[in-house]
Amino acid sequence: MDFTHAEHHELLRKSVRDFARVEVAPHARKWDEEERFPKELVPKLAALGLLGIRIPEEYGGSGMDTTSYAICVEEIAKVDGSLALTVASHNGLGTGHILGFGSEAQKKKYLPKAARGEWLAAWALTEPGSGSDAAGLRTTARRDGDGWVIDGTKMFITQGSVGGFCVVLARTNPAVAKQRGITAFVVEHGTKGFSASKHLEKLGCRSSDTCELTFDEVRVGDEQRVGDIDCGFTDTMKILDRGRISIAAMALGLGYGALDMAVTYAKDRKQFGKAIAEFQAIQWMLADSKTELDAASLLTYRAAWLADEGRRYGQEASMAKLFASEASSRAINRALQIHGGYGYTREFAVERHLRDAKICEIGEGTSEVQRMVIAKGMLHDA
Ligand SMILES: Cc1cc2nc3c(=O)[nH]c(=O)nc-3n(C[C@H](O)[C@H](O)[C@H](O)COP(=O)(O)OP(=O)(O)OC[C@H]3O[C@@H](n4cnc5c(N)ncnc54)[C@H](O)[C@@H]3O)c2cc1C
Repeated sequence: MDFTHAEHHELLRKSVRDFARVEVAPHARKWDEEERFPKELVPKLAALGLLGIRIPEEYGGSGMDTTSYAICVEEIAKVDGSLALTVASHNGLGTGHILGFGSEAQKKKYLPKAARGEWLAAWALTEPGSGSDAAGLRTTARRDGDGWVIDGTKMFITQGSVGGFCVVLARTNPAVAKQRGITAFVVEHGTKGFSASKHLEKLGCRSSDTCELTFDEVRVGDEQRVGDIDCGFTDTMKILDRGRISIAAMALGLGYGALDMAVTYAKDRKQFGKAIAEFQAIQWMLADSKTELDAASLLTYRAAWLADEGRRYGQEASMAKLFASEASSRAINRALQIHGGYGYTREFAVERHLRDAKICEIGEGTSEVQRMVIAKGMLHDA
């Protein structure tokens, strides 16, 4: 069941689903085992428009809406969480920041290459010492003549080593409240002093690229500043609002993918002389998962619809991410239980889904942070 009924959304869902089934599903296990980012897939993602989902056609993108963005991520996640994370972050974070707040020159320079897959985008907010408290970042950008010099370390950056450019958040004014003195810059790979200093090995989403990045006296011109000076954190919060819809969609895809596997397995596996699907204990697990995932889908596509309508959607995006990520983990855990011992082996993709889904409760704000955002919105409105 899905809750996006416009005809163009249905067509998009079908084409991304077909692509995922043919081009991604057969390889996802191998990519995960090899812990290797599948660079060879990038041209195919670009050809289908999946690397420029929200980029307007004038900059070489697909010019689609937020609902479409969620559909693309959900359909890919049904077979591969790693690739869904790549598509979500490339579109929502790195290119999203340039699209939302970049200058016309930056849009012309970066967005067409991003849409063609020539340059994957990274987005660097988190640091070794600042995660949930993102405004506590310590990377600095200081004025140097007409330009800036960036110094610091960023942690857990998706597409950190395979990206062509990175939007980095740095402190430009230590004298004001911490949320107010932050500015964004776009830094290209190959810039002196900018390096992926460490590749991080992970529990799940192992074939998405996650790195620690080092900025050591990185000199950039003022034309590489994205948005207004000292306004980067406000822009960042808007980027995260939309990004959270994509993480909710990723959770949905992983959950529905595992539920499909559980239904198939339950009808096939026989114990005590009958298919285990005939046992009420199994049926109740399936029913609970279906109900929770459909509820999560409604929350996710409500947030996407609000975004597409130009209405306020930050709180709704947080609710979608919070509920979808936790419901997905529960659903996948049940799916694994239905697979019994086989679910615990790598022969079945359900264990990979369980590992991949955990990031949805952590990335782009943990579940605890989402609860803080939701409550803050409620108390503010009251
Ligand atoms: C695979 C992966 C990909 C990522 N990709 C990116 C990326 O591309 N770009 C980027 O910038 N970042 C990225 N991140 C970072 C991610 O957003 C952070 O890991 C996340 O925001 C949590 O920060 P932290 O890990 O420092 O945890 P911490 O903030 O240290 O939190 C630790 C625990 O304390 C809890 N906690 C913290 N503060 C509070 C509070 N006030 N009240 C209650 N509980 C609290 C948290 O919920 C959590 O349970 C990625 C992370 C991973 C693992």
